[in-house]
Amino acid sequence: MTFYTADSIYSAKSGVLSEHFFEVDDNTKKIIRLAPLAELSPDEKGKLVSFKDCMIIPGLVNTHNHSFQSLLKGFCDDKDFFDWRDNALYKYANVLTEEDIYNGALFAFGEMLLQGITTVCDFFYINDQDNKNARAVIRAAQDLGMRISFARTMYDWDGAPKRFQENIDQAVNNTRSLFQEFKSDSKVSVLPAPHSLHAASPEMIKAGRDLAKELGTKFHMHVAEGKYERQMIQEKHGHPPVKYLAETEILNEDLVMIHCVWLDDEEIQLMADRRSALSYNPSSNMFLGDGITRIKEIVDSGVVISLGTDGGCSNNRASIIEEMRMTSLLQKVKFCDSSVTTAENMFKMGTADGGVNLGLPIGEISIGFEADFVVVDLNDLSMQPRQNMTKNLVYSLQPSALKYSYIAGKRILEKGKLLSIPEEKIVEKVQKTTKGWT
Ligand SMILES: [Zn+2]
Repeated sequence: MTFYTADSIYSAKSGVLSEHFFEVDDNTKKIIRLAPLAELSPDEKGKLVSFKDCMIIPGLVNTHNHSFQSLLKGFCDDKDFFDWRDNALYKYANVLTEEDIYNGALFAFGEMLLQGITTVCDFFYINDQDNKNARAVIRAAQDLGMRISFARTMYDWDGAPKRFQENIDQAVNNTRSLFQEFKSDSKVSVLPAPHSLHAASPEMIKAGRDLAKELGTKFHMHVAEGKYERQMIQEKHGHPPVKYLAETEILNEDLVMIHCVWLDDEEIQLMADRRSALSYNPSSNMFLGDGITRIKEIVDSGVVISLGTDGGCSNNRASIIEEMRMTSLLQKVKFCDSSVTTAENMFKMGTADGGVNLGLPIGEISIGFEADFVVVDLNDLSMQPRQNMTKNLVYSLQPSALKYSYIAGKRILEKGKLLSIPEEKIVEKVQKTTKGWT
């Protein structure tokens, strides 16, 4: 057993606790006790790891990313969506080798770890009709010591590169076998991810929904990202996207929709009624000029919202703290009212609700949760004054305040340095992979 304490511990359920500790089971790597320091026995006190002038917060959860896209940063920025898609995304997705994909994942995940992210959901679609590339992405997370939820894409639109496409049987069988392959790895989970209404047929999406039920997982899908997409679905199916998903019984409690920028009132109500969730990516939506998701109304309807960075070439940062801040600021601007969002709500989206949307016991310092946590230096300039720590975490924290990160009870980050793979090694790999690209 190991025991941890700091000046304060951020508990989603109880708020900011002082004079408390939590206990981690060395075998299961889970938190098994959260209690006042006075309850520690003299023997237990000897095993206490104490962080002075620090606060322990849950590890940050990134519920949407495309890791290989980090390699494409800067190659087609400031272009319209189709230009970006065709001249960056499709162009380079076609040339990446398995090793390049591994290097891209190391790069994306390495940057995230430096920002206090402990779990990433990687929505991956360069599948080449098998799981070789998927394993490369998962291996990168394993080599870094990061927790990964692998959203294996199911894709059958023939307008995209062949490497993305599978028939329904291939997509289902490959996703199921990847799930089985990593079932015993406590830091890896796999879930089905029919790409979107424009890149997966209704039959493919239904197969993803059914597979999620069979495996007992969530399923993720891009929905209503661009305005054009809403119009396209309306013309093709006679309903806007979420209404169409409701009509076809795809909208259910396992579905986590990515983006949802273009929804009407009825669709927000449908999401709430069917208990579907949202993975929101404000920086990416701004970067690509998609629009502003109706976060205030979606929060008011009771829908669970988590946050994602999206791919590295539509952001181009990899920070959930940044996404918390962006979510809040963007709504305040939209409503010309600074009281429409709170830092407390944003923090929950970036931690506990991320766990909900991945179906994992993460994002909280609570009994039964994984020992994934970040130690924040309260003496960092960005954490001054010590008036309200939640506001500081969401609005002013800089990575310089992140002292240590632990994943499954193991220290992964120490004072801005990755402990598993040195940053210089990752830089070398990125430079080697992208050499000669124009
Ligand atoms: Zn995406």
